[in-house]
Amino acid sequence: MRPALEEIVGRANALYEDLDFGAVTDWKRRNPGRKAIGYMPIYVPREIVHAAGMLPVGIVGGSDRLEIIRGDAYFQSYICHIPRSTIELALSGRLDSLDGMLFPSICDVIRNLSGMWKLLFPDRYVRYIDVPQNFDARVGGEFWRREIEALRDDLVVLGGEPITDDALNKSIAVYNENRRALIDLYKARSEQPWVFPTPELYVVMRAGNVLPPDEHTAMIRAYLDEAPREDREDKDHSRIVIVGTFCEQPPLGLLRTLERAGCWIVGDDLLLGNRWIETEIPTEGKPMENLSQAFIEHSTATASRYDAERAKGESLIQSVRDNEAEGVIFCAPSFCDPALLDQPMLVNALDREGISHTQFKYSEDTGQFGVIHEQAGTFSDSIRLWSEV
Ligand code: SF4
Repeated sequence: MRPALEEIVGRANALYEDLDFGAVTDWKRRNPGRKAIGYMPIYVPREIVHAAGMLPVGIVGGSDRLEIIRGDAYFQSYICHIPRSTIELALSGRLDSLDGMLFPSICDVIRNLSGMWKLLFPDRYVRYIDVPQNFDARVGGEFWRREIEALRDDLVVLGGEPITDDALNKSIAVYNENRRALIDLYKARSEQPWVFPTPELYVVMRAGNVLPPDEHTAMIRAYLDEAPREDREDKDHSRIVIVGTFCEQPPLGLLRTLERAGCWIVGDDLLLGNRWIETEIPTEGKPMENLSQAFIEHSTATASRYDAERAKGESLIQSVRDNEAEGVIFCAPSFCDPALLDQPMLVNALDREGISHTQFKYSEDTGQFGVIHEQAGTFSDSIRLWSEV
């Protein structure tokens, strides 16, 4: 690998590997007195945290590199893995650099986790973010504006400084740049997945969980510049969209396995919260209204969002078409209610369109990929064989 690309990917990998969140500690050392606020999947308006002069830190569990010692004691065995590893991260002191945590209302598991946090860490700021499921501007929009205003007011108290509209508009502009860079990255990967392999794209995108947004945007732009200079060849792979990875994240080994098995991932819902708003948000006028309106009108489609306007599966089919994908892999965390309850409706929609699909489940600490390799390889082969008939 060329040194410049190696440096970018190496740094992103190091941030991914670092379960002690050293980048957050470093940021706080460089910004004395400033606070860092963690947030769970799926979506929180990071602009408000940023405008408060704080660092938003995405927490998506402990992946396959964290041994669960105490976390299992807090949850029953038949739920997903992310809450136990998140508790483990906290109880082992790895999240001590965080001055608060935000828990958006994605599912009951996250709701329970937020309650547990309050019991375990009574001295730390915790907020359950009640995300609306009504997307009428006069109902859900009004509710959401009040909810995010309450968050803003909390952060004013926590930070001891006002959050002005001017600061909010500047933060919205910073995140607009970040959104634009991510959109460009996804477009580039869709056009040339062999140039921007998903395991690389993923760690570069995930660096945004711990880096300040402007630094992260610079990293994405540098990666977009450098990756095409590497000599990489296209392969006879199938083009695949993966669905179900919006909360608990698959281990990196799983993404590598899919590509080794003959699947170019050209669309996905990995770390979807960081790509939740699909357009730019206005940077003038009333920022809280603009943030609320963007959420109501331009949220992405996903299992944890009720969408009365579009039929289930419409967005997935659109993603298949936009990315010229040949098939869909339902790849969801075990016991993930939002992803798995959505799946039959999405399967029906794909069947109606004659789009091939397969499915398996994972846990963030899945360590054996042999079966997944065989299944994904067979799926990819079947797509190529049938498409040639
Ligand atoms: S993985 Fe699914 S069930 Fe578990 S916390 Fe996330 S959304 Fe909820």
